[in-house]
Amino acid sequence: MINLESEICRKIRDARREAGISQSALSLEVGCKQSALSMFEQGDGTKLNESVVNALCKKFGIEIGNKEETVPAIRTSPVFSNERGFCPNPSCPSHERYEIEGRLYLKPDREKQDPAYGKFCAICGEVLEKQCPSCGRKLHEGAVCTYCGHKYVSV
Ligand SMILES: [Zn+2]
Ligand SMILES: [Zn+2]
Repeated sequence: MINLESEICRKIRDARREAGISQSALSLEVGCKQSALSMFEQGDGTKLNESVVNALCKKFGIEIGNKEETVPAIRTSPVFSNERGFCPNPSCPSHERYEIEGRLYLKPDREKQDPAYGKFCAICGEVLEKQCPSCGRKLHEGAVCTYCGHKYVSV
C-alpha cells in the first residue's frame, strides 16, 4: 500500500502544470474523473485509487518515496484557441464565489483567467480547461455546464 502523502499529490500537480496538461486531458488519459483529480491535487490522496496514482507517477517520472525531484521530460505543444478557457483551481482567487441553498459555487472569471487565449491561468498559473471537463462541450458563462450540469470548479 502506498502512503499517499500530500507531497505526492503536489508533485503530480506540479508535474502536470509543468507539462502543460489540463486536468481533464490527464484524467481522460489515466481513467479517472477530473473532479477526483482536482481534489487529489489539493492533497486528498484518497480520491484516486492506487493504480491511477501509479500511472500518474510513472507518466511524470515521480518515484514514490524518493525524495529527489525528477524533472518531467514531457512537453505538449501549445493549444491555439479563440475560446477563453477557465481555471479549474478552486484556490484561484479570481473566481466569483456565491452560494445557492447553502452550496458553494465558484464562477470562473474567464476574462481575468484567460485574457490572451492562452494555456495557463493568468492569475495562478494553473493549466486552463478549454471545454467542459465532464462532457467536452463548449464552455458557458457561469459556474455550471448547461449541457451536463457539471460544476466547472470542484469545491
Ligand atoms: Zn487560476
Ligand atoms: Zn458538460
